Amino acid sequence: MSHTDHTKLFLPGPVEVRREILEAQTQWMIGHRTGDFADLFARLQNKLKRAFFTDSRVYISGSSGSGLWEGAIRCGVRDQSRALHLTGGAFSERWAQISRANGKQVDCIQVDWGRAHSPDMVADALSRQRYDAVCAVHNETSTGVTNPIQAIGEVVNQHDDTLFFVDTVSGFLGMELRVDDWGIDIALTSSQKAFALPPGIAFAAVSDRLLERAEGIVNRGYYFDFLTLEKSLLKNNTPSTPPIALMFAADAQMDAILAEGIEARWARHRDMRDATHEWALARGFGMYAQAGYRSDTVTTVDNTRGIDVNAMGAYMEREVGYAMDKGYGAIKGKTFRLPHMGDVSMDMLHEVLSGIDAFLTQQN
Ligand SMILES: *Cc1c(COP(=O)(O)O)cnc(C)c1O
Repeated sequence: MSHTDHTKLFLPGPVEVRREILEAQTQWMIGHRTGDFADLFARLQNKLKRAFFTDSRVYISGSSGSGLWEGAIRCGVRDQSRALHLTGGAFSERWAQISRANGKQVDCIQVDWGRAHSPDMVADALSRQRYDAVCAVHNETSTGVTNPIQAIGEVVNQHDDTLFFVDTVSGFLGMELRVDDWGIDIALTSSQKAFALPPGIAFAAVSDRLLERAEGIVNRGYYFDFLTLEKSLLKNNTPSTPPIALMFAADAQMDAILAEGIEARWARHRDMRDATHEWALARGFGMYAQAGYRSDTVTTVDNTRGIDVNAMGAYMEREVGYAMDKGYGAIKGKTFRLPHMGDVSMDMLHEVLSGIDAFLTQQN
């Protein structure tokens, strides 16, 4: 390849990671029962709390984000009670399935793929049935829909004993999320989306209310038991061996993010979204997600032109040096996703979009 030394990732996870961040992982290892580790943990903890806009705590997990789905449901939903899942896309549906696999009783508010959930739908469900938790996905990465989390939180918070669980795997650090102000009891995320880290580490901001709930539940499991994580966190530590190299990377990346400014980072994502929409609509493509709820971190393009998405991907990889998305699950090929998340710059976005233009021209 002449264009680059490697194929750059233009995928909605894992995303392209900057060289400096990859290199931060190569620091000499430290033992996790040492003062040096406690310093690293404490330093990272403070930065993560700022990123989640919370005064409570952020757990660090040596897993991908999916593990924390299990943690949330096992620590927060009692066997005799129920969880309400807001479903309508590959990830929100998988989370509901995982709650069932953990033996929980689950009801879903299912919307068509590409649609958002409204606060009214949630208010209606909560008026008819008591739930231990409402589980919502902030940014449904398969469809490119962003749910109105703040407004849904207002509804959930009117019910004293109902906790609010949010998957912000592809939203966190790419679009607005304020854990304490929005009354969120857990906001869980992975590293390999808008955080722009390598995969393998996950984070969750957890409220006192959720920990109180966990105290009344016996079978919380071990690896994702928040009470176990809490005991260690109070000593700036983790119960089992943490992904230390990834924590070095997260610490370095948080410095870069705080230097950019979290709100400035959100604004950059919004600008890239607008540029992507303009590009797609001007070329006769559609938007898969409902107007008003289109994601700032990933655009799911409705392939109304019927282009050969596989051929586009092959062209982009060969000629421009980017690995491209080809749509997710049931809507593969009928859609493709343009992820403008993480450390993607406007220049990189334009390089990709011009590459697709060259492909489209060549087709005519
Ligand atoms: C990627 C993704 C997940 C799964 O995260 P893993 O880190 O792969 O476990 C869950 N939810 C959403 C919204 C995602 O985009």
